[in-house]
Amino acid sequence: MGSETRQLHVFLFPFMAHGHMLPMVDIAKLFAARGVRTTLVLTPRNASLFEKSVERANKARGHPLELRLIRFPSGTGLPDGGENLDHVTNSAQTVRFVSAVRMLEEPFDELVEAARPDCIISDMFLTWTAKVAEKHGIPRLVFYGSSYFSVCLHDVIMRFHPEKSAEYSETEPFLVPDFPDPIELTKSQLPVFSNPMLTALMADAAEADSKAYGIVQNSFYELEPAYADYLREKLGKRAWSVGPVALCNSESTEEMAERETTNGWDDEGKEVLRWLDSQKPSSVLYLCFGSICKFSPAQHAETAAAIESSGCRFIWVKKKSEVLPEGFEERNRGKGMVLNGWAPQILILNHPAIGAFVTHCGWNSTLEAITAGLPMITWPVFAEQFFNEKLVTKVLKIGVGVGNISWVSWEVEERPIIKREAIEEAVRSVMGEGEEAKRMREKARELGEMAKMAVQKGQSSYRDLSCLIEELAMHSAQKTTTDLLT
Ligand code: UDP
Repeated sequence: MGSETRQLHVFLFPFMAHGHMLPMVDIAKLFAARGVRTTLVLTPRNASLFEKSVERANKARGHPLELRLIRFPSGTGLPDGGENLDHVTNSAQTVRFVSAVRMLEEPFDELVEAARPDCIISDMFLTWTAKVAEKHGIPRLVFYGSSYFSVCLHDVIMRFHPEKSAEYSETEPFLVPDFPDPIELTKSQLPVFSNPMLTALMADAAEADSKAYGIVQNSFYELEPAYADYLREKLGKRAWSVGPVALCNSESTEEMAERETTNGWDDEGKEVLRWLDSQKPSSVLYLCFGSICKFSPAQHAETAAAIESSGCRFIWVKKKSEVLPEGFEERNRGKGMVLNGWAPQILILNHPAIGAFVTHCGWNSTLEAITAGLPMITWPVFAEQFFNEKLVTKVLKIGVGVGNISWVSWEVEERPIIKREAIEEAVRSVMGEGEEAKRMREKARELGEMAKMAVQKGQSSYRDLSCLIEELAMHSAQKTTTDLLT
């Protein structure tokens, strides 16, 4: 086949959790919208969540985006249909899930062998995709699904281990060394993996990433320039900012809702949006803690009390299995709404009635709030959420924390309780009329405008994606020439 005229073909393979799949599906759409032949690799149940959206890109818009399925291993001891991390409810299942995902190497290798893409973009947790890429002589780009700030902070902690100094107890803050901003953390905010398999996974990820061609970042340069530069200049990594990727869905309400998977745009979601239409601008507090994190009834009792005494109108998204205090919903009818399960988050965040977001600081949620121009009340729980909190509260200064300093894995519901007073104080300081609250709102609004600007034609994220596509096309052409000559 004539090499130079061959269309660039990119394979994208996300980790099977909503927080990882949603942005990678968006990245796939972005590549396809630029005419790049794009294949999204998913397991059947996960694929069913995105079929409509892929079909719209492909059939209605004519973008070269296709889905390829690989079967999720059966008989692994996971709950029926447990192809997604949100089906996992305890640590033993997490380990089974990670082992099952590991078994996808062979079918993935077969897909790559048959399709011969020019490049693989895969999630940081799919460490073995690095081996597959190496075997086929193609570049692998890694997707972290995190901020530049967090990627850099993680690297610095791993290099210097400042927390290991005997001086520091679990809760005594230490200063992060060699970092652009003065950031303090405590040992208790750093990840602790109780299972050796997860520790090994993180080590594998670091090893695989050191060989990666580069990083595809869901961020935009103007948001965290010091850290985008730090990653490139100090850590010597190559990275392309292509975000906020969720903005690729902003052409229609349906699209934004469907981006939240097909179950987001149900009657409950529509009712919430209708209710928001009747509320005053910036008057409603939105609480949602991502796709997998759950809280105990005791914690919810504190949160409920804080919401009630703050007097704020609210939308509170809880998982179906979570329990709110008895009578809370009835007492607050008209003042707020509780959504069970899955919210059309981007539509809610962008509604003018929303004033602030109580978030666990998952990077997608954080960036979605930034894009919507909203200040945040930060309540990190696990993963790199404590790092994202620092970006929001200390660098961007568009949020206030509830004061959680205990990193506890997401599937563990019992954690130190955050008291109602602390939650209420954080809510008041962000939703209130004080100077600080006004300043935060103004800064958040400005960042929201910058976020929307970054993806416009000719602007930073648009340009970075163009550069990446050009470079990959060149790399592929060179490889074909070399292959022909050898
Ligand atoms: N999300 C949503 N509705 C929900 C909960 C989550 O649409 O009820 C989306 C949210 O918009 C975000 C993603 O799921 O895009 C969650 O990713 P994040 O990184 O914030 O957290 P994680 O789920 O990975 O903890």
